[in-house]
Amino acid sequence: THNIGILGAGQLGRMLAMAGYPLGQKFGFYGFSKDEPSALLGHMFTHEDETDTLEALIDWAEIVTYESENTDLAVVRRIEAAGVPVYPGPDSLYYSQHRGREKSLFRELDIPTASFEVVDSLEALQRAIKVIGTPSILKTTTEGYDGKGQYRLQSPADAEAAWQAIGEREAILEGFVAFRRELSIIAVRGKDGEMVFYPLVENQHHKGILRLTLAPAEAIDPAIQQAAQDYMRRLMTRLDHVGVLTLELFETDVGLVANEMAPRVHNSGHWTIEGAQTSQFENHIRAITGLPLGSTQPLTSWCAMVNIIGETGHIKDALRLPGVHVHLYDKTERPGRKLGHLNVVAHSAWAREQALAALAPFLPAGG
Ligand code: ATP
Ligand code: MG
Ligand code: MG
Repeated sequence: THNIGILGAGQLGRMLAMAGYPLGQKFGFYGFSKDEPSALLGHMFTHEDETDTLEALIDWAEIVTYESENTDLAVVRRIEAAGVPVYPGPDSLYYSQHRGREKSLFRELDIPTASFEVVDSLEALQRAIKVIGTPSILKTTTEGYDGKGQYRLQSPADAEAAWQAIGEREAILEGFVAFRRELSIIAVRGKDGEMVFYPLVENQHHKGILRLTLAPAEAIDPAIQQAAQDYMRRLMTRLDHVGVLTLELFETDVGLVANEMAPRVHNSGHWTIEGAQTSQFENHIRAITGLPLGSTQPLTSWCAMVNIIGETGHIKDALRLPGVHVHLYDKTERPGRKLGHLNVVAHSAWAREQALAALAPFLPAGG
């Protein structure tokens, strides 16, 4: 048994704790307030308290992990300096929280990625457009999620609008990748270097937000799965990564192209809670506590995950469907907010189609 401190107290922390309790672990959270999704799952060390809450967390925790790539590196270094290990380590965080560093690392490791240039002024952007061309995407180098902090350029004339739209701050211009599908792979590395890999899954987004994951992705050539695993092996070894690592990929006519990575459990891995032998959450806890990693085998070839965005709506209808599992995060409704998800474990392609048809009210209209 370990006291595990989680930096952040959102739904990922909540699901990590839910997976860790059966293994006898205890959880505490370093969060903003006592009404976050993780609040009832362990002690909350909130920033609101008068006392130095980070010191209190450091005193209590034996191992620390985090639920966001935007975690402050200085906080992680302070915890480590106090003798409490943080997994994944600072390298994983350092590269994942800056799109420029991340893509440079992909290049260094021969992992295909979009053409890119980091820019810090309008003039630099205009020069970069001459190299990268259009269509292209301008993204803030840090802090973006759910497609926020991005602008799509259709022609060089869009430079000024793009620079203003992202707030005139350091950014990365990426060549637009003409992809067939969006895929992701989740891998886990233990403290002893053991690695396990989940199958590639297909992700469908709407307005920058993940709406549907199909797991495993259909019609994946074994060589493509191997290539994805190979990229993960290189990344995790180079970063000395411990825990879950996620890589978002584009499937193109010439193979996989890496988009971004996250040093944490990921929305596209939520299907593993009921859909795989061992969930991504349990495997992350196993990895950081030095336990043997669990099987990543999917239970069927027709799993899916549907995000509940903005409003919880027709939950009772979902609860009536066999093979559908409801997960709510205890968050208040707000447009565009991730409030929960529905996992589908079906035993045939047809059964999954039926389930997804019944869950259509949770999906964006028109697919
Ligand atoms: P997340 O919520 O996954 O962290 P994010 O805000 O970090 O998202 P990205 O994943 O980089 O942003 O981009 C969001 C979406 O925009 C991608 O899932 C993809 O659909 C599209 N996109 C991003 N970069 C490119 C690109 N270079 N070419 C084509 N499409 C892209
Ligand atoms: Mg991202
Ligand atoms: Mg993304």
